[in-house]
Amino acid sequence: MRSIHSGGKASGAGLEIDWEAVSQESLDYFRSLLRIDTTNPPGNEIRAAEFLAGVLQKNDIAPIILESEQGRGSVVARLKGSGEAAPLLLMGHTDVVPAEPNKWTHPPFAAEIDRGYVYGRGAVDMKNMVTMELMAFLLLKRLGVPLSRDIIYIATADEEAGGRKGIGYLARTHPDLIRAEYAINEGGGTPIEIGGKLFYTCQTAEKGVARFIMRARGKPGHASIPHGDNAVVHLAEAIVRLGRAKLPFHLTPTVGVFWERIMQAQTTELQGQMQSVIDPATHEEAMDRLPLAESLKGELRAMMHNTATPTMLKAGSKINVIPGEAEVQVDARILPSITFDTFEREIRQAVGPQVDLIFTDQRMGLESDFETPLFRHIQSVMANQVAGSQVIPYMVVGGTDARHVIPLGTRVYGFAPMRHIPGEEVTMLAHGHDERIHAEDIDFGTRILFEIIRSFN
Ligand SMILES: [Zn+2]
Repeated sequence: MRSIHSGGKASGAGLEIDWEAVSQESLDYFRSLLRIDTTNPPGNEIRAAEFLAGVLQKNDIAPIILESEQGRGSVVARLKGSGEAAPLLLMGHTDVVPAEPNKWTHPPFAAEIDRGYVYGRGAVDMKNMVTMELMAFLLLKRLGVPLSRDIIYIATADEEAGGRKGIGYLARTHPDLIRAEYAINEGGGTPIEIGGKLFYTCQTAEKGVARFIMRARGKPGHASIPHGDNAVVHLAEAIVRLGRAKLPFHLTPTVGVFWERIMQAQTTELQGQMQSVIDPATHEEAMDRLPLAESLKGELRAMMHNTATPTMLKAGSKINVIPGEAEVQVDARILPSITFDTFEREIRQAVGPQVDLIFTDQRMGLESDFETPLFRHIQSVMANQVAGSQVIPYMVVGGTDARHVIPLGTRVYGFAPMRHIPGEEVTMLAHGHDERIHAEDIDFGTRILFEIIRSFN
């Protein structure tokens, strides 16, 4: 870690960079971005796009702003390479989820700094990465780094609502502006320490969606004369079955390698326990016994299973009337390569034949090949920059904008590098109260991303 935290003037590959000045500059951009309220809905990302475009223009880069509809602006800029290699896309989104100011220690759109932490909605999701990529992009330009490939910078609208009015719009209407061989995105770069060993995640996969309504039917009637065919009771039984069900274990390539690499670095005893986790016969029991925090195990389980979580209930319109129908909405996430049919069979197996399953929102999971030059390059840069760390492929159990660019033939890696500080997991604050990041993390991430991009040529 020393080599990138030495401060002052440092020269990498013969480039003179005043990192102290860079760190002040990027912190200013970051705080300015946090102060722009881009809560989605409604978004108003145009204000962030215009701010970024202004910075780019001051650096002699000509940005393009595209609006999918009024106020929903995204910015695109490009540094030309020699064309020997295909473009690299630096992607990020400028919208944020709503915040409840009264639950925050510092206001969510003020970018106040307290004990080194910058507070603001978007601090880790993902105005941090938007800033780090911007700063790396500006440095490439200012230093006149010779490029074999075009580097494309985008900061887009609407990711938190699915991205159709942001990157989805760009991909549909201006694919040539953003088409690239590789993209670097959010979703990874998080340090995790297991058994005293440090790993950095690089996102190569994400789950899909298979949301559904589960509906039970019964006999309507007057609530004063109960009977055995009440839709509410049928639904409750099905929900309990679904909630208690152990959906089957699946190991995708990303999670297989993720697990393998962590396992190899552990003591023989832990290796044995981890091996049992990926054996379908012993999976459930071995996972329960694994000596890790419950929150981490919850995420690991979600990486190895399709999930179905009941969230919204609806039944009845009057207290003294037995309704003929009752339903629940279920947020369900499916692993890459799992088909909707396979998933429906798993759910049917769990809940039984009595309820209707109505699928409302379906999207396949995604996986990018990680046996590639860029993935290996990220691994080697990180091994140099953070001694003893290892970059491993990783699957996000939610979704990102990656799905909009993968169809253009782009391999997307989520890598927004953060420092490792034992006991601290600020990335968990994404979408939470008091979202914040240490100012030094902006610096750390900028340096690493700059190094990755500069030397991937
Ligand atoms: Zn995000």
